[in-house]
Amino acid sequence: MSADPFCKICRAAVESSNHIFCDCIKACLVWNALLKPDLFRDFLSIDIRSSIETNLRHPNYYPIDTENWETLFRLVIWNLWIRRNKLIFDSNLTPVESVYQQIKKMLFETMNALRVQESWTAPSLARVNPTIQWEPPPLDWFKINMDGACRWNSGLATCGGVIRNHLGEWVLGLSKTIGCCFALDAELWGIYKAMIPHVTALIKRSWMIMFRYIPRQGNGVADYLDKLAWSLPSAVRTFHQPPAKTLSAFHKDNVM
Ligand SMILES: [Zn+2]
Repeated sequence: MSADPFCKICRAAVESSNHIFCDCIKACLVWNALLKPDLFRDFLSIDIRSSIETNLRHPNYYPIDTENWETLFRLVIWNLWIRRNKLIFDSNLTPVESVYQQIKKMLFETMNALRVQESWTAPSLARVNPTIQWEPPPLDWFKINMDGACRWNSGLATCGGVIRNHLGEWVLGLSKTIGCCFALDAELWGIYKAMIPHVTALIKRSWMIMFRYIPRQGNGVADYLDKLAWSLPSAVRTFHQPPAKTLSAFHKDNVM
């Protein structure tokens, strides 16, 4: 942090998040090369939080070139922040042209890395361990399987879960869109804090509770419920019967 309230880059305004990432003349130069001219003033008029949400949720709205905008937008924000810190802590002012070149270089490297990652995470029979499968809980037990994911390109996070009895019968399922990755930490803390009283109350009851990590191969139904959340509003959606998209995984669990 700096004790001087004014922006070190332009010295024309008090430094704020909005100023660093949007209003500052040097930030404007970067954005100006990327955004539709008729929406440029609109982009500058909204606060940074709304800007992040709009750009990640509606990546076709502001940019001239929409390809990989969710990633490029984040890299611009990141590099503006790094540029500001280099000036304050290292007295090193990076020229706007260098910032722009650095962003393009990082975008190229990021997209390459994501392509490699996708090739590794794509379904592959060779990587599926056939010995891992869902197993019903013992008699009079209930098993709750949960899964969660965050899409790298939009930053939106979701979760899903299912409760089944010792016969593998469906008791209840749920899907939920958690929100933007930008707010994910806050959301997770919110969920964590909200869950603590319930978990504590469960543990105090006269029953046994076990928590265990299981690989995705044994968690197919929860994985589908998590994916289902992408098509749902942000409220929690519960299912008293298996949704159609989970039927294949649900039956597979019960016949193996
Ligand atoms: Zn400034």
